[in-house]
Amino acid sequence: MVPDTRTAASRLLEQLPARQGFGDATLIKHRPGSIDLGGGNPDVEALPTALYRDAARDLTEGDAFAASLRYVPAPGIPALRTWIAEREGVDAERVIVTTGGAHGLALAVLGTLDAGDEIVVDDPVYPLFLRTLDLVGAHPVPIRVDAHGIDVDELERRLLAGLRPKALFTVPTFQNPSGGTLPDDRARRLAELADRFGFTIIFDDPYREVGFEPGGVDVRSRQLDSDRVIAVNTFSKTLGPALRVGWIVVPEALAERFVRLRNRLDGLTSGTLQELVLRIVQRQEYPAALAAAGVGYGRKARALQQALESRFGDAIEITEPSGGFFLWARLHGDADFARLHALAQDEGVFFQRGEWFAVDDDAHLRGTMRLSFSEQPTEALVEGVERLHRAWRQLG
Ligand code: PMP
Repeated sequence: MVPDTRTAASRLLEQLPARQGFGDATLIKHRPGSIDLGGGNPDVEALPTALYRDAARDLTEGDAFAASLRYVPAPGIPALRTWIAEREGVDAERVIVTTGGAHGLALAVLGTLDAGDEIVVDDPVYPLFLRTLDLVGAHPVPIRVDAHGIDVDELERRLLAGLRPKALFTVPTFQNPSGGTLPDDRARRLAELADRFGFTIIFDDPYREVGFEPGGVDVRSRQLDSDRVIAVNTFSKTLGPALRVGWIVVPEALAERFVRLRNRLDGLTSGTLQELVLRIVQRQEYPAALAAAGVGYGRKARALQQALESRFGDAIEITEPSGGFFLWARLHGDADFARLHALAQDEGVFFQRGEWFAVDDDAHLRGTMRLSFSEQPTEALVEGVERLHRAWRQLG
C-alpha cells in the first residue's frame, strides 16, 4: 500500500465534500422558517438552566473562583475527576476531563492508532468519528449494527477469518444514528474478543443519560473492568454542547500515557467550567432534572413517531428507541432519496439521509433517514412530518 503522506488537515478537509450534508453544520444552509430535524442539539427547555444560575452564583461568590481561572491540572480538577470516577465505579486516576466528546474521541484515536491501522466501526456509523480517524490515517472496517448494537457474531467470524483490527468503535447506548442499545452480554463478548484478538474497544456513550424511563439505564459505562476498554463521554447532551466538557475513562495501564498526551495536545479544559459543572451535578436536584429531561424526550419521540405513522402508514418502518435524540426510519419502495431530500428542503424541513452514515458501501442504507426529535417543540415535529409527506407525494 502506498503510504498516505498528506497532512492530517488535508485528510480531514478532503473527505468533506463526499458527505456534504453531514459533519459540518456550518455547511448546511437552512432556509428561513425551515424545520431542522437533522441536528443533535438538546432541547433548550430541558437543560437545567436554573441549576446553572445557582451553581454560577456559588462559584463566583466563593474562594474557588479565582483559582479556577488559573492553569489547572491536565487530567482535570480533582473534585470533578472524583465525582465522575465514583459514578463510573473506577479509580479517579483513570479519568481525564476533556473538552467535550469530540475531543475525547480524538484523544482515544491518537492514543491507540497509527497510520494504516484498521479499526472496526458501527455501520451505520457516527460520521464525525470517521473524520477523527483521518487525523491519524486509520482505516475503518464496518460491521453492521442492529437493534442490539454491533453484530458480535459477525465480528467474531471476521476475526476468525483473519481480520486484525487495532481497535473497535461503537456507540453502545441509543446508537447514533439507528437507536439500538448493546446488552450487557454482547458488551461482555466484545471484551472477550478484544482480549483474545488484542484490540482496544472505544465505547462512545453520549446518550446514555437521556433514556426515556427514569432510572431505566445504568449510568456507568460498560466493561470498565476490562483493561482494553476506553469509555468516552460528554456533558453535551445533558448540560448543553456549547459547554464543551466531557471525560474519558482509560485502562489503568494507559492512564499516564493519556494524561501526558492530553497535556501535550492542548493542556487542559477550562477550570472555571469544570468548577461550574461540579456545582451543577452535585446539586440534589440534578438527578430529578436529568430524569425529567429523559421523560420529555420520550414524549417527543412518541409524538414524532405517531405523526409519521399516521401520515405514511405502511410505507414507513420506524425503529422505536428507548432513549437518545433520534428516530431511525425506512421508507419502503425505491423512492429517490436525493430528490426527496431536495423536495423536503423546498417544503421547509431538513433531515439526515441514512446514506450519510455509511462507512463505504451505502446500498443497505437506501431509503433510510435519521429524524431528530430532541430540539424542536412537538408542534414543529408534527408540522415537519406534514412537510416531509408533501415532499414524498410529489415523488409520484
Ligand atoms: N459521539 C456521538 C455519537 C455524538 O452523537 C456526539 C454529538 N453529536 C458526540 C460524540 C460529540 O459530542 P460533543 O458535542 O461533546 O463533542
